[in-house]
Amino acid sequence: MTKVASNHTIKSGFYWQRSHKQQQTGAWRPTYNFGNSTANPIDSTFGYANAALGIFTQVSQASHYVEGNWRYNQIEAYVQENTKATFSHGVCPDCYSKVVKPELERIRPQ
Ligand SMILES: [Zn+2]
Repeated sequence: MTKVASNHTIKSGFYWQRSHKQQQTGAWRPTYNFGNSTANPIDSTFGYANAALGIFTQVSQASHYVEGNWRYNQIEAYVQENTKATFSHGVCPDCYSKVVKPELERIRPQ
């Protein structure tokens, strides 16, 4: 949006982005324990062999998917004003002659 009034130009703008992302979170694959168990008569007594034979003592797995419901809002706004004022060395010509020049003459060594 832009508005012009005499020497002033005022602009403003607005940006809003909304985002939504469904994403599974956490581990969902099962974990197996191939450790030895004396209670199991077919246990190989060696973990790697148990894994190769598919002998495990425990399996754990999440009972359902945990799905994140990620949302975010990005909001930006700005207001800008232009006055068409001109400056030289940070001081306008009027202020230079009224303020800066007398001050420089006052502190200048005689
Ligand atoms: Zn000035």
